[in-house]
Amino acid sequence: MEMEKVTGNVYTNTKLRGCNPSFVTTSEGVVVIDTPQLPTKAVAMRKEAESHGPIRYIVNTEHHVDHIFGNYFFRGAGTVVNHRGLYDRFMVVFPELDPFTYARESVPGPTAQGTDLDDPEGAALWPDRDEYYRDPNKGTIVFTGDLMLRVGDHTFNLLHTPGHTPGQVAVHVPEERVVFTGDTIFSGCQTWLMTSNVAEWLEALERIRTLDVDWIVPGHGPVVTQRYLDVQRSHLMEWKAAVATAIASGWTREETVARVDFRDRFGPVDVGQGYMLDYIQTLNAGSLYDKLTGAIPGS
Ligand SMILES: [Zn+2]
Repeated sequence: MEMEKVTGNVYTNTKLRGCNPSFVTTSEGVVVIDTPQLPTKAVAMRKEAESHGPIRYIVNTEHHVDHIFGNYFFRGAGTVVNHRGLYDRFMVVFPELDPFTYARESVPGPTAQGTDLDDPEGAALWPDRDEYYRDPNKGTIVFTGDLMLRVGDHTFNLLHTPGHTPGQVAVHVPEERVVFTGDTIFSGCQTWLMTSNVAEWLEALERIRTLDVDWIVPGHGPVVTQRYLDVQRSHLMEWKAAVATAIASGWTREETVARVDFRDRFGPVDVGQGYMLDYIQTLNAGSLYDKLTGAIPGS
């Protein structure tokens, strides 16, 4: 699989449907950061990563499908490391979302959405639900707070940076002057807010700002520098202010969802998911409304 080389030992792919799956090569093997959602891409990236040495660890940055579903195709390759907040939500079916069905949308079948960047060959690799849930390859090292891993001459500082999700992790590799932020950064594309706590998310951005790095590998969109932290901050603040203003104006939840949107402002939806634009606008506005009115916890 074609990977973009960010530094001497850092590889990512920002052009797939799903997250930006990445890996770092070291003198003692490879560390994978997030796995491709599309089955054929997961198989291909595993092969590519293993061509640089054995996979030692797989770190996931959050519990959303696009960052963890591909773990299934990495069974037997390295130790999976998950924050407790991620581990407890790993492919758990919630009333509002069945992650297994959602993942299935990317390959042909009853729920396929049929975009150019789907994975037609992935259908042959697709496990049935029972088989998948027998071993989805979730973490066997589960931590709270931060965690440091050492592999060869490389350091991997796993920083708990909640906000986008409760178990959100950024992976800072000081020797490469790179940080992988997961979806704490959506670069050049729409931000997904529904499982978020915006106040914590803004703090997470400030924590990432303190790191001495040249590159940010975001969860979605092109690789950026720390200058992009200000852009992400502005998107979060604009969303929150717009919904707060709607509430102050006495709008109902329905009016807020109908009127507040940023579909023309913050870029397209990430690769292959343009059909989700209405869904994102509606759920972003609705979930912020619920949080700011106290109907559900968070802020
Ligand atoms: Zn994501």
